[in-house]
This record gives sequence, C-alpha cells and structure tokens, in this order.
Amino acid sequence: GINKSKQVVEDYDKYVAQNYTPLKDVVIARGEGVYVYDIEGRRYYDFLTGYSAMNQGHRHPKILAALKEQADRLTLTGRCYYNDMLGKYAKYATELLGYDRLLPMNGGVEASESSIKMSRRWGYEVKGVPDNEAKVILCRGNFWGRSIAAASSSTDPSCFMGYGPFVPGFELIPFNDIPALEHALKDQHVVAFMVEPIQGEAGIIVPDKGYLSKARELCTKNNVLLICDEIQCGLGRSGKMLASEYESVRPDILVLGKALSGGFMPISAVLADDQYMSMMKSGTHGSTFGGNPLASALAIASLRAIVEGGMCENAYKMGEIFRKEAATFRRDIIRDVRGMGLFNAIELNPNCGVSASTVNEKLRDHGILSKSTHEYTFRMAPALTINEEQLMDALSLMKKALEEC
Ligand code: PLP
Repeated sequence: GINKSKQVVEDYDKYVAQNYTPLKDVVIARGEGVYVYDIEGRRYYDFLTGYSAMNQGHRHPKILAALKEQADRLTLTGRCYYNDMLGKYAKYATELLGYDRLLPMNGGVEASESSIKMSRRWGYEVKGVPDNEAKVILCRGNFWGRSIAAASSSTDPSCFMGYGPFVPGFELIPFNDIPALEHALKDQHVVAFMVEPIQGEAGIIVPDKGYLSKARELCTKNNVLLICDEIQCGLGRSGKMLASEYESVRPDILVLGKALSGGFMPISAVLADDQYMSMMKSGTHGSTFGGNPLASALAIASLRAIVEGGMCENAYKMGEIFRKEAATFRRDIIRDVRGMGLFNAIELNPNCGVSASTVNEKLRDHGILSKSTHEYTFRMAPALTINEEQLMDALSLMKKALEEC
C-alpha cells in the first residue's frame, strides 16, 4: 500500500509536467458513485467530481454500459464521413435543450472558442462589423480554459502571465454589473457577450437575481449575441439543467462540456439556432475527435442519466440542505457559504489565520476531497446523485474537519 503510493508520487514528481500541485497523501485508484478510493483502499467523498465533469457520479453504470457497447463497435471515423451515432446525439441534445443544431467539440476551451469564432463571423456577415474589428465582451474573473485566446481574455495573472502576445478583440467588464454592460454594448463592433451564469473558477460567484435576464434584454436590444458558458454550472449542477433557466434566459449560443461525458472523456458542444450555426460553413472549422461515435454514444447516455436520474431535482434539494447546514459551521473562520444546487463554495475569512491548504488537508483526513478555487474559497461540488444520508454524513465529516482547523 504505502510503497505503491510512494512510487506513484515519485513518478509524478519526476516525470509529470508540474503545472498542477496535487493534494498530498492521496493517490486515487478507483471511483464509484459519490466516492473515490485511494490506492490503500481508503474511501473519500469526492467533492470536486473532476471540476463538475462527473455530475452523474463516478462510472455511472448506464454511461459505462454505453461506452463499452460503443467501444466494441466503432470509436472514430472523422467528420468527413457520416457515422451512425452523431446525428442521433445531436437530435437528442438539441431537442432536450431547444436549439436547431449542435457543433461537437472535445475540451471545454475548444467549444468556448468555437462560440467566439461563430459570433465573430456572424458579426462580419450579418451584423456588418468591419473586417477584423469584432469585439467580444467578457466579465472579469471569467474562466474558459487555457488556450491563448482564453489567456488573452483572462484577468487571472496565473492564466495569462508570460503567454503574450495576446489575441485582440476582447473587452472586460465587471461581473454582475449591468451599467458596465450597458455601456460596453453601445460599441457597434461588439458581436457577443460571453458569460458564465454562475462564475465557477472565480469562486462560485452567483450574480444578483435579475442580472442574466437584464443582460439578455440588453444583448437583444443592441443586436449582440448572448453566449452562456455553462460548461461548469450547467447540466444539473446548479439544480436546474441549465443555470440560465433560473432567469428564464435562453442564450443565443450555449456552450457545454465537462459532465456532457459523465467524466469518461472530454466532450464539449456548442448549441445554437441555424442563423448562427450556419456561420460554421463546411471546411471552416473542425476537430479530429469532435463528434466521434464513442463521444456521441457517451453524451447521449450522460444527458439521459441526468434527466432520467432526476439529478437536477436532487441537486436542488441537496443543495438547500448543504447550505443550511454548512452555514452553521465555524462561524469564526467562515465568511460565506453560497451557491445554487450542488454548485457551492465555502469562503474563509482571510484574516482567520487558517490557510486553504490546512482546510484541504483536514478535509482529506476526514474523508472529503475538495479543492480550493482561490486562496480562501472551497468548491463543494459532490456528485448530483448524493442522497440525504450520504450528504449528512459528509457534512458531519466536514464539521469535524473544520473544528480541527
Ligand atoms: N468554461 C468554464 C466555465 C470552465 O469552468 C472551464 C473549465 O474549468 C472551461 C470553460 C474549460 O474547459 P476545459 O478545461 O475542458 O478546456
């Protein structure tokens, strides 16, 4: 046990690129539902769920079955051929989410960037923006991945420092600030406003009620596309299939990723109606793996698992319990407990003398795997399949861990 885990850590430290700092003393070897098990067989509640890529829990049996069946038959063709799964997937997803078409991609950053490309082309071909003058508005604190375009629109120095020169055409405004948006949208060269309905990596920041619906109204009024990046907050995480449903908002372009595969492989997608999707003309955009039959089979099963498992409803209910209970913990060190559904954060008081790493380690010692998103903020995002008994158990472990901090 101990020796195996020591070897794993040695190999990591010697051979793996060091762009992450993994939590010490846990080597995860197996996952099942709301739990993961380390190499020594210890069980933990997974409160990160692959940054919400496993809303359906680890190795959801129906998604796993779809993977096995499809892997046994056909995995990849390339988009230059019809495969017998992609159409089925696109039909299911567009009917479920209410759009004309789906553009299949892989990682989240590719889908977000694809949505920006789509909006730029729409700007030139439909809105009449002069060539190479399109602007996309984003919010400070946004996170949409690690490409050079994403780094170019990031306000987080760890994301952009040392990676210039940057891609032009992005403009940043504060999140949850309608007057700033109103002002920014006056520029006729603006083609899109891209926003996370609940900011994820920024620390689970829930905007004021009415923010998104007002943003929708302003985008429509100014002939600007609203792109909602629901890669992290979507697919049941917030207690609804899409977080934008809380505001009855339908974005022009919807971006999904992470839980679209239930954690089996990277699968992302852009959904939009014909008038925008038609900007992606044959040969102008693509991806070797995007829309492969294995991903298509997985995505259908992943979406079905959320719908048929009542996961949105469960996330909503469990989230209410989580926040109510967590709000009673260590009020001397915790400044805020916030979130929607099972997309929650616990924020420490920065002056409390307890560091994020202490909390991460104490939680680990009590069987909870979490990860701070920022120095003082912990994401608390278990699988949406967690039941009340498991949640109460996890909460009591969290309580004990916090009492020792
Ligand atoms: N958009 C949001 C809201 C995200 O949270 C993330 C990842 O955390 C991304 C995009 C990028 O996804 P990926 O890491 O799969 O490229």
